[in-house]
Amino acid sequence: MFTRDFSYLDEAHICPNCNTKMSCCEAPPVHVGDGLGWGSEVLFICLNNECSVFKNGWQHIERQYGHKGSYRCMELPGSKEKNVMMVASEYAFTGSEIDTEAVKKQNIRYVKEQEAVAALGTCIEMHNLEPVLTLILDESATLANRQKAVACLKPLNELACIDPIRNHTFRDTSLLQECSMIISEILKTHFKKECPHCAELIKAQAQKCMHCQADL
Ligand SMILES: [Zn+2]
Ligand SMILES: [Zn+2]
Repeated sequence: MFTRDFSYLDEAHICPNCNTKMSCCEAPPVHVGDGLGWGSEVLFICLNNECSVFKNGWQHIERQYGHKGSYRCMELPGSKEKNVMMVASEYAFTGSEIDTEAVKKQNIRYVKEQEAVAALGTCIEMHNLEPVLTLILDESATLANRQKAVACLKPLNELACIDPIRNHTFRDTSLLQECSMIISEILKTHFKKECPHCAELIKAQAQKCMHCQADL
């Protein structure tokens, strides 16, 4: 949906006509004027119905073009150049406002995913479980990246991976199954098992759980 340039997220645009904060909106796919596109996926638009440009635009367009419509003030990201765009109704663009906070959060998550993928290459030699868990536990990461991370679990052979994975709710059941199989193998190599009553790690040969005292 968005390209990876999110610099517009920190921009504040104030309408030069009415001094209200302009809304960050998705740009319409084609520039009505020249057919070349806006060169941007977002536009800052003044959606204030009391804005003079919008209020007076109806009359102007009626007189000039003989149809119903008005103007909204508009600025492109990275620019303070005054623009107006024609709108057919007062509702134009009201549904295309972008939740910049949500996009910011998505972007932070995306960057974390990319960093974790980059760290996978050296995670085994550095005994670094962190990027592996970051990806496995991130339901928004791509399945391919999460599978790459799962493939590092066994060579890492760390008991510390068990609790975070066990406590996670996987939407992808095949990923969960794969993790469970690897966890069994990791437990075996450490001569451990999970207590079926309290889930604590105990010796593979234990008859009684040292944590919950249950007989096994
Ligand atoms: Zn305005
Ligand atoms: Zn127990």
